Amino acid sequence: MNVTRFAPSPNGPLHLGHAFSAIVSHDLGRRDGEGGRFLLRIEDIDGARSRPELAAAFRSDLAWLGLEWEEVAPQSSRLASYRAAAEALRLDGLLYPCRCTRAEIVAAALTSGADGPIYPGTCRNAAPETSAPVAWRLDVGEALRRTGRLTWRDELAGEQLARPELAGDVVLVRKDPATPASYHLAATLDDAADEVTLVTRGQDLFAATHIHRLLQELLGLPVPVWHHHPLLMDPNGEKLAKRRGSPSLADRRAAGEDGLALANALRKGRLPAGITLSNTLHSHP
Ligand SMILES: [Zn+2]
Repeated sequence: MNVTRFAPSPNGPLHLGHAFSAIVSHDLGRRDGEGGRFLLRIEDIDGARSRPELAAAFRSDLAWLGLEWEEVAPQSSRLASYRAAAEALRLDGLLYPCRCTRAEIVAAALTSGADGPIYPGTCRNAAPETSAPVAWRLDVGEALRRTGRLTWRDELAGEQLARPELAGDVVLVRKDPATPASYHLAATLDDAADEVTLVTRGQDLFAATHIHRLLQELLGLPVPVWHHHPLLMDPNGEKLAKRRGSPSLADRRAAGEDGLALANALRKGRLPAGITLSNTLHSHP
């Protein structure tokens, strides 16, 4: 039986791309009939950007689309588990403090990845002498020396060789005390705690899975299967986003649109004019 989840951040209203993602996840959770589960998890630890009041609108959006879900604890109630995991990795010698600013990283980066400039490892061997808050980064090279090569499986793209080194030494604990865990650490721990068996999310997070697979190995967590679905693309070939004018689901609801009809159209691949689906990824080891 699949356990899937939809895990939006209340940083802004949901739009059509979120609806598609929620429907894919919901339907995969239910594809084996009784016993499958579809979870809603609110990822509300984005500090100043987080607007918890939006979570109520998210629930209204999902109900409008005809989805049924079980809501699990929001990230803001799980901070102790993030701190404990980070402390365990730190005691294992797998994290190091970094005090670089974003501008310094941009200036020093030799390459760029899916998340922007790749951190060049400036602080790996030089502990900063400062009382200012530091970020804690994963020493990916050392981690890989301990785990050896890992693999993971995507339902659509097949078996993958984990290549976390492509992202560089990612931040696991942010400088901002209000946001103690990075997305990578929080999402990996939450999926394990929520017993998610099929991590369903957009292709834009495909590269992040290399890191998540490494974290699972380091923290002794179960390894799920992934399903990175295609993204809805706007007429410019970019991922749909509210800031580029994609109407929110709340706006569509308020305008009297039929949510069930919209959900069924998305299921059948009938997309609004100008919207297309990105190609399926096929990256094999
Ligand atoms: Zn640094």
